[in-house]
Amino acid sequence: MSEKTGESGLILAKMDDLLQWANASSLWPLSFGLACCAIEMMGTYASSFDADRFGVLPRASPRQADVMIVAGTVTFKMADRVKRLYEQMAEPKYVISMGSCSNCGGPYWEHGYHVVKGVDRIIPVDVYVPGCPPRPEALIGGILKLQEKIKGISQTDELPVPELIKRNRHDKTIS
Ligand code: SF4
Repeated sequence: MSEKTGESGLILAKMDDLLQWANASSLWPLSFGLACCAIEMMGTYASSFDADRFGVLPRASPRQADVMIVAGTVTFKMADRVKRLYEQMAEPKYVISMGSCSNCGGPYWEHGYHVVKGVDRIIPVDVYVPGCPPRPEALIGGILKLQEKIKGISQTDELPVPELIKRNRHDKTIS
């Protein structure tokens, strides 16, 4: 990413590379869970799997978080709350959908009249982690995939206002 000039303590790098590296290496997920998948998410944060080593530190406030890990069943009753929490997070923000329920309704796909058939119907999703429930290793895989994705997004390109609005707008309706 950078090249040394020969002088100690000096590294030359593009601002974009630095910002991408910093952004990808300090993912702070919002601390909340919806159902059984959240137990695996908590396991991922615990010492056996130690998500801290990837710079992943859960935060209790959406205003301090830049990643939403949707872990569990999104019911219609919760959908408004999930959307509101997402809207309270500052840009740039990312979403990991963890588990079948969040990805597509999971075991409630056919008869779960109370379940949203995929959280991407209410908020934009960056990475999907399959499984019922996915193990912590799978969630870590999702986090690494998100880091990879962030490293490919320019942080210095100014986003035009309409694009920002589009990003925040949920043009998919709950059905
Ligand atoms: S995907 Fe499976 S483990 Fe995860 S919330 Fe749904 S039913 Fe529970």
